[in-house]
Amino acid sequence: MAPVSAGYLLRVDLTTGSCVREPVDPQLQQQHLGGRGLGTALLQEYAGLDPFSPEMPLVLTIGPLCGTSLPMSSRCVLTGRSPLTNTIFSSSSGGPLGPCLLGAGLVALLVQGRAASPCLLEINSNGERLLPADQLWGQGCQASLAGLDGVAAVIGPAGEQMQQYGLIETSNGEPFSRGGFGAVMGSKRLKGIVLKTGPATVAIADQAGFDKALEDLMRLFRASPFLLGPLGIREHGTVALVDLLKQRGMLPGRNFYSFEGDETRWNAYALQQQYHPEPGGCHDCLVACKRVASDGTELPDYDQLAAFGGLCGIDSLEQIVELCEQCHDQGVDPISYATEMAAGSREASLTVKGLELPPYDPRASTGLALAYATSPHGGSHLSAWPIASEILRKPVPTDRFSFDGKARVIAMFEDANAAVDCLSLCRFASAAVELEELAALLAAVTGQSYFTADLLRIGRCTVQQERLFNQQCGFTAADDSLPQRFFTESANGLAPLDQQRFEQELAAYGRIRAAQCL
Ligand code: SF4
Repeated sequence: MAPVSAGYLLRVDLTTGSCVREPVDPQLQQQHLGGRGLGTALLQEYAGLDPFSPEMPLVLTIGPLCGTSLPMSSRCVLTGRSPLTNTIFSSSSGGPLGPCLLGAGLVALLVQGRAASPCLLEINSNGERLLPADQLWGQGCQASLAGLDGVAAVIGPAGEQMQQYGLIETSNGEPFSRGGFGAVMGSKRLKGIVLKTGPATVAIADQAGFDKALEDLMRLFRASPFLLGPLGIREHGTVALVDLLKQRGMLPGRNFYSFEGDETRWNAYALQQQYHPEPGGCHDCLVACKRVASDGTELPDYDQLAAFGGLCGIDSLEQIVELCEQCHDQGVDPISYATEMAAGSREASLTVKGLELPPYDPRASTGLALAYATSPHGGSHLSAWPIASEILRKPVPTDRFSFDGKARVIAMFEDANAAVDCLSLCRFASAAVELEELAALLAAVTGQSYFTADLLRIGRCTVQQERLFNQQCGFTAADDSLPQRFFTESANGLAPLDQQRFEQELAAYGRIRAAQCL
């Protein structure tokens, strides 16, 4: 069968300096589509290697919808073994990186080895080469990006020093934030990746089918109150969540105790009054959920505001904005940094599998409590993204105070979200559209038949492969847990979680996963 999206894998060995292109196995691409699925598949044979081992690769992938006119479809996914969690990890970034990778004829880039001295990987229309980067080493992310022509992804001093929170900043301002991949690049002495190829579009197999599927998707986007409504994230950015989550008891206070601050000093209204921001966003995104100040500064999103404002108890919006700017320039993940700051030390931070919990209190959502525990990436709200059903009531409302049936719900959400990640689509798209519409679009792009069940199967396979990778790294079911405090102390007027019911659902989740095969 024809590949989903024709393209090459570029293997770069920083130790030897070799750069070799090879066609991506069409079967592999068809089984995993792209993005997180393809990255996970390519990483599988390296399970067990130390995150900082030169042989442990970092894999950058795009999805089969990249280069189409579907908004929010051009994300780039970075997959590797996180030095923070020691698990497999995937992190994504919107912006021109994905379309430019496509412009270079690539669907995947796999980087291994360790350079003898700091270097840059440049990909241009003539091919690829490694360049010395001694003059950039030690510089902050902003200065590094400003000094480079083309679309780039760079690390800052934190990554160079292999700090576990090191992030990778990109030209469009949206970083690969979580998981510490900046530190992995630093361990390889790779300061950055620069693409000088320009973006590309992808050939559509069935243009009439594509136009019809796109029209259906656009209608759903436009009808989504969360995305494009007057109180949605186009209008206010994700900071619109501050008031909603405060009202639901999910906005955490200092180090996940009760919230006692004044969120009106840094909520959407405060941001609007103080900075008069414009919407900004990733490549070709009609939602544009970022907020950009008049001087071009990207303002903090919900996660960053709630991490510093809620978890750290900082009431000054200016101070939060400044802290975020410093984090981004030094190449530090602001969420991990704020969570550690709130706890006083990394050891005292509330984590799952080593990943500091983001600013969403699980006492307000049983689904979130379970999802933190089961995520193959550690304490991430994104693997299952139960905020959608438990707070936004999409695709269907679920009872956020009951554990009943949550094992199956979370397993299904993990699979569905993994499928979206294999398409390299922004997660917010799934607040408006279902896999059914995405399958129709994918079928039109590729000329192959795809249905909801196919995407769910591909998503499930990705999650299962991630769990297998983690098992090969020594993780067991005992690592699927939640910090004890959430079972013993109340917060924000919400009772502690029912530990017995949590453990019963966790066991049910384990049985569901065990009954599935790859
Ligand atoms: S909704 Fe926001 S995060 Fe998603 S693609 Fe658009 S700008 Fe990027």
